[in-house]
Parts: sequence; C-alpha cells; structure tokens
Amino acid sequence: MQFSELPLDKTILKAVTEARFHKPTLVQQKTIPLVLKRKNVLVSAQTGTGKTAAFALPILQLLLDKQDAKKDEKRIKSLIVTPTRELAIQVLENFKKFGKYTNLRTTAVFGGVSLEPQKEILAKGVDILIATPGRLIDLYLQGNIDLNSVGIFVLDEADLMLDMGFIKDVKRIESLCPKTKQILLFSATIPEKVAHLAKTTLNIPIKVEI
Ligand code: AMP
Repeated sequence: MQFSELPLDKTILKAVTEARFHKPTLVQQKTIPLVLKRKNVLVSAQTGTGKTAAFALPILQLLLDKQDAKKDEKRIKSLIVTPTRELAIQVLENFKKFGKYTNLRTTAVFGGVSLEPQKEILAKGVDILIATPGRLIDLYLQGNIDLNSVGIFVLDEADLMLDMGFIKDVKRIESLCPKTKQILLFSATIPEKVAHLAKTTLNIPIKVEI
C-alpha cells in the first residue's frame, strides 16, 4: 500500500513525501482508515512502529474536513494526552511536520516550564492540543482550556500513563470532553488495567494489534 492510496489531502501527502515516508508502516495501514471512519480504536503498538503518524495523519485530515464547515472556530478540536514531556514534544513535532501545509494550529503544554507562555498561545486559539495530564488540569482549573469542542481524544502510551499513576487524571480529563467524541488509545502492551480502561471509556473499541 502507498500513502497516496489513503484518502488524505494533498497538503498532507506533500508533507509525508517531504518527510521521506515512502510506504505506510503496518500500524499506519491498519489504523489510518479506521480513524478516518471515526472509529474508536485500541492500538497495541510499540514506539518505533510509526504509531505517531498513525494518529497524526488521520486527525489532521478529519480536522481539515471539518474546517471547511466552520472556518474560524478557535476551540480545541483534538486533544492528545501523553505521559511525559518528551513524548509531548515528539508528538508536537510530528503534527507540525505533517500539518505544515495546513493552517491547523497545534501546541503542546507540559509541566516543568512556566505557565504564562502556554497561556498566551492557548488564548490565541489552537485546533490540536498535546498535553501531559498534570499541566492540562492546572491550566483547565485556571480557566485557560476549554474542552467542550474536543471531537477526537487520544491517549498515547496508555500503559506508561497508568504505570505513572495518572489513571485518575486521565479519567477526569476524559470526562471533561464531550461524551460523543472519538477515542483512540495507544499502548505498547495491553495489561489488564489498560484493557479495563478501554472497556470503561471506549465505545465499541476496534482492536489493532501489530
Ligand atoms: P513512532 O513509532 O511514531 O515513534 O515512529 C518511529 C520512527 O519511524 C520515527 O522516526 C518516524 O519518523 C519514523 N516513521 C514513521 N512512519 C514511517 C514511514 N511510513 N516511513 C518511514 N519512516 C517512518
């Protein structure tokens, strides 16, 4: 399969080509079509398999589709929660790289740095927000984040997130987003607690195993 066989906008495909991605990896081949069909998916894939583009590319596409209808909306439409700051930055770089020919705005918020610059960027409006749980809740409680328009919610490295004790935060964040959202859950392994989280928060999950 080639990237051009996937129903992705030419602006996205151009960025994919520039990133020297020639062929979608297995996780991308299996996941991208499901995400584009607005399915909730539980993906078991290790780092290094191409899992970031497996959600970044279809999310950019879905938001581009939506953009035609509601041009100047400034609210967060997709939220990606990651366990660490390093991962948040990595995910941000992917969205920036693949979204460079779109006008979708992406930012990342994480702890360990001052709040003010993050508040300023959020105030201008972002389409895609990548966040670590603690900082996200801080900013939410201070009134800087509105999650009422989140249509796609991603939990990246869910197993690590639960190992780090973020379960309560994750459930709280999920409950602050609309009930009708699409949920994507990525995890290197699916231990019982991840399976339980998937069962209790995911609606009819489709399992993709790599
Ligand atoms: P990830 O699993 O998302 O952390 O990706 C691992 C590495 O593989 C990153 O350096 C990606 O840029 C690269 N990568 C992901 N998908 C592809 C692809 N289809 N072709 C070539 N490289 C890729």
